[in-house]
Amino acid sequence: MARYIDPKCRLCRREGMKLFLKGPRCDSVKCPITKRNGRPPGMHQVWRRGRVSEFGLQLREKQKVKRYYGVLERQFMTYYHKAAVRRGNTGEQLLVHLERRLDNAVFMLGYAVSRAQARQLITHGHVRVNGRRVLVPSRLVCKGDQITPAREVSKKMAKESIEFYRRDLPGWLARDDETLGGSVIALPTRSDVSLDIKEQMVVEICSR
Ligand code: SF4
Repeated sequence: MARYIDPKCRLCRREGMKLFLKGPRCDSVKCPITKRNGRPPGMHQVWRRGRVSEFGLQLREKQKVKRYYGVLERQFMTYYHKAAVRRGNTGEQLLVHLERRLDNAVFMLGYAVSRAQARQLITHGHVRVNGRRVLVPSRLVCKGDQITPAREVSKKMAKESIEFYRRDLPGWLARDDETLGGSVIALPTRSDVSLDIKEQMVVEICSR
């Protein structure tokens, strides 16, 4: 699966907000959003002013979600089509789908300092789900799933990350700090998504 490998801070600067793509650096004074007041990337951006069209606003919302969860266009549209056929609000279903990704759950459990690192841990075989090693970061977690570090070295890395980058667990996940085992105690809901996003605009652009 293809992935974005260019500078990550550029993505946040484009969206004008912190997307927390780089772990501890995002909370430091080195973050360009803090340092340069979120100036957009590119040499002449400062002169590009004027009214942004409706399409432009919708596009920015969609890009924000894709970048936050680290998915590219084709995969994102697959999530959208799945959300569109489900019962309920399509925008909310889309966000819940993305929130249920295994790399997001691993990041939220604190085993990694960013979603990109969580993705790498999974593809390198450091994560077990229900006792079996899973190498697919896009796997959707279900209620009752047990997520654990696979080896001693994985446990050590997870412990370092938890200690270094303390963050509150969302309500749908639980973690045993002794064994470092995590579990999915409920499916996430819209209120568990901390990203400031207008999902209706994402649905509008995807349904064009
Ligand atoms: Fe870079 Fe993180 Fe700041 Fe985004 S939030 S600009 S990834 S340091």
